[in-house]
Amino acid sequence: MLKLLKEILKTGDATLKYPSAPLPTVPSVRGKPEFASKRCIACAACTIACPANALTMTTDPVAGTRTWLLNYGRCIFCARCEEVCPTGAIVLSDDFELAVHAKADLMVAADFTLTNCRTCETPFAPTKEVNYVIALLIRSGLPEAEAERRRDLYETCPECRRRLDVPKVSVTSVERLAEVTL
Ligand code: SF4
Ligand code: SF4
Repeated sequence: MLKLLKEILKTGDATLKYPSAPLPTVPSVRGKPEFASKRCIACAACTIACPANALTMTTDPVAGTRTWLLNYGRCIFCARCEEVCPTGAIVLSDDFELAVHAKADLMVAADFTLTNCRTCETPFAPTKEVNYVIALLIRSGLPEAEAERRRDLYETCPECRRRLDVPKVSVTSVERLAEVTL
């Protein structure tokens, strides 16, 4: 008996105190994606990249808004959203505890205002995304007045651009990004 007690004392705790104490995780753990709506520009890159359809976007043309939605119930923690996000608005955390009382608690949503097309007045591009592209142009060296002049182009929907045969401005790598996303 004494021998057994000695062995127990030598071994120490053989089990973890979780869930009464936090469970340590390894640095590379891929847990719950955390979303910062302030950083998000509603570019939709993450919703296109998400293989599990956990991320979706819906447009309300009447309200002129686009809703970004993350369903943790579908997430497979692949980190594709984090890889493609240009602003760091979605980052996987080390939080692996997803249990909730109601299914609705697995959803995170954010609404974004859309800019109306200057020609047909249809809401089409997230305002934050248009501003982000203009800011990128300025940061890449384009004079502010010239970048603002190109706002006309970015605030014209693709349909109207085609219909009006809007001449293309010289294409920088930043504008190539804008052409893909807007
Ligand atoms: S981690 Fe993967 S599955 Fe989860 S939201 Fe991001 S892209 Fe989708
Ligand atoms: S990729 Fe990033 S910025 Fe774009 S919609 Fe997703 S979270 Fe927002």
